[in-house]
Amino acid sequence: MGEHLILPGDPPIALDIKPSARARRLSLRVSRLDGRVTLTLPHGASRRHALAFVEDKADWIRRHLADRPDAQVPMPGRTLPVHGTDHPIVTGPGRSVHLAAGEIVVPHRDPDRTPARLMAFLKLEARAALAEAVDRHAAALAVTPARLTLRDTRSRWGSCSARGDLMFSWRLVMAPREVLDYVAAHEVAHLVEMNHSQAFWNTVARTCPGYEAPRRWLRQNAETLHRYKFRD
Ligand SMILES: [Zn+2]
Repeated sequence: MGEHLILPGDPPIALDIKPSARARRLSLRVSRLDGRVTLTLPHGASRRHALAFVEDKADWIRRHLADRPDAQVPMPGRTLPVHGTDHPIVTGPGRSVHLAAGEIVVPHRDPDRTPARLMAFLKLEARAALAEAVDRHAAALAVTPARLTLRDTRSRWGSCSARGDLMFSWRLVMAPREVLDYVAAHEVAHLVEMNHSQAFWNTVARTCPGYEAPRRWLRQNAETLHRYKFRD
């Protein structure tokens, strides 16, 4: 884990410190995706200087954080998208999260654990949907992927390693089905073409015709999928 600096105030804000050998000046960045604030610290800059700098920029930081779509912690009474459809979250009997009549039913015991339970549920759903989509696209292209792993990545929705391991963001399960399907088709196509050449896009189109629309959706709605927070 990296270093942090706390900007005092209401609420206090934790900044990630990124030491840099190349940077000449202190600089700040607020992520549009998850509101993380990063301070780039040039070699030799003191912590005291850094704190004075961020205190000077406090209004700017808070304004940028306020501009972001609100982070949402999924709880009963709110909604959570599954395969592109907002589902009301309701409490009910039973020990596991499940879908029933268009609602997400969460156990009413230990409400503190609701976000973590919902995240575990989404991961299971994501794994099932992605495994199905990957198998289907791989069969169509006569290729065999290696491992399939899920992560909570901020900068990419999927990746394909030289060894054929596929990685996906489980948050894709909140997107419409055709979006998850496109990302699966994209990564599987990398098993044929390890680049983004025209030949690669032709390969994507073989198993995912009309991929442009879901690709655009993903570019335009990344923040929607990242705004749900499942832990603090
Ligand atoms: Zn790619």
